[in-house]
Amino acid sequence: MTSAPFRRTKIIATLGPATESEEILVQLIRAGVDVLRLNMAHASHEWTRMIIRRIRSASALAGREVAIMMDIKGPEIRTGDVTLPIELKAGEIFDFTVKPEAEGTRTEEIRSVDVNYRNLVNDIQVGDTVLVDNGLIRLEVLAKNAAHIRCRVLIPGQLSSRRHINLPGVHVNLPSFTEKDRGDTLVGIEAGIDFVALSFVREAADVLQLRAFLKEHGSNARIVAKIEDQSAIDHLDEIIRATDVLMVARGDLGIEIPLEELPVVQRRAVRTCLAIGRPVIIATHMLESMIGQSMPTRAEITDVANAVYEQADCVMLSGETTVGKYPLECVRVLDTISRRIEEEMATEYAEPAVFLTERMKLLRSAVVMANELPHSALLCFTRRGITAAGLAAHRPVCAPIIAVTDSPDTLRHLKMVRAVDAYLLQPFGDPEKTISRALASLRQLGRIKSGDKLVIISDVITPEGRRIDSIQLRTIE
Ligand code: PEP
Repeated sequence: MTSAPFRRTKIIATLGPATESEEILVQLIRAGVDVLRLNMAHASHEWTRMIIRRIRSASALAGREVAIMMDIKGPEIRTGDVTLPIELKAGEIFDFTVKPEAEGTRTEEIRSVDVNYRNLVNDIQVGDTVLVDNGLIRLEVLAKNAAHIRCRVLIPGQLSSRRHINLPGVHVNLPSFTEKDRGDTLVGIEAGIDFVALSFVREAADVLQLRAFLKEHGSNARIVAKIEDQSAIDHLDEIIRATDVLMVARGDLGIEIPLEELPVVQRRAVRTCLAIGRPVIIATHMLESMIGQSMPTRAEITDVANAVYEQADCVMLSGETTVGKYPLECVRVLDTISRRIEEEMATEYAEPAVFLTERMKLLRSAVVMANELPHSALLCFTRRGITAAGLAAHRPVCAPIIAVTDSPDTLRHLKMVRAVDAYLLQPFGDPEKTISRALASLRQLGRIKSGDKLVIISDVITPEGRRIDSIQLRTIE
């Protein structure tokens, strides 16, 4: 089997000033990025439309499909503008103001900043913690009234404009899918995104609301639920069932929950996803030090390896590729570590999840056969990606899953699924003829060669004209 260029773990890279040129996009795609992420916390609609067009043309130039994931902000609380950065000192009393008209009644010597969420004063309690700018500044709530919350600074720092606020353990009553999210998603749908990532998913209903919105607007985009706080952890199982893909968004999660809980939650989330066959992304700070330097830390190397050992579907880059100095090197580092660990894992058989449907049992037997045949590959024909994802859910040990589809949307959706290498073949027709055409085309592309063993999952048509599932073992002549 020609499997040298194949990596099972998929790579997601977030786009920003460091990577938005067509030249770098082509290089990123050639270096092996599978999915490009647009972070709508920082993107205008004009930029979004431009970059989606540019990604599609860069992908054509590079000769490789990539999927596009639009990451919408969700219920995010931010501080307002400040004319000059405020230097917050330890022990200082500081106000977060929700009603600017209350200014006249304020105590002059207490400094303050506005917050973009009026109901903050109702959601928060005296004694709660307020974290600003990714947890760099910590305050404790001392008192509140209708206009502001009054805090004491516990960990000092410099407060500049529009900083992100986290309120660990506080149930925030903001809608999960905001007006801004609706506007952003509509732009994405129109421009043809493949995935929408929903930030701060708190329960399954949040995912269902987005699903209804996508359906209403005729979009085939898949949903990525980002778990980022305690409420998501409390509803983890139902969120995983409701979503198409899960993202362990460790940036916010690591602030919202005690730090020692983060690896525990990551492991539980990945295991639950594997148990029901949901793709899962490990995100944030994978190669954070490479924002400024060309080599990862030893701890980062081990963190990436751990995600691959856990059998996550995707690893993700954020700041490393938006503003970092070494975006291409970061992709190469993820690529190299993933391949090495995958090679190592081929010697250890993890017990795959047990699925109950007849269809999944059929797919399991195909995977068992492929596991028994060194150097074989699985080949499936998949319209909506369900068969390919079902095979991936059984985590074949060595065999790649060559997924042939007649749908460009499915081809891109499969970019998130571990071990799947998807190809487009249009149109599908009589099963036997479709297999022959696929084999000819895969051979021409150099993906298979004489002597290769393929475990093929396809329909066959009985003499009475019935379509039935089949598993075939073929050696390529
Ligand atoms: C995260 O918090 O880890 C994350 C991926 O979300 P964002 O970058 O949107 O904060």
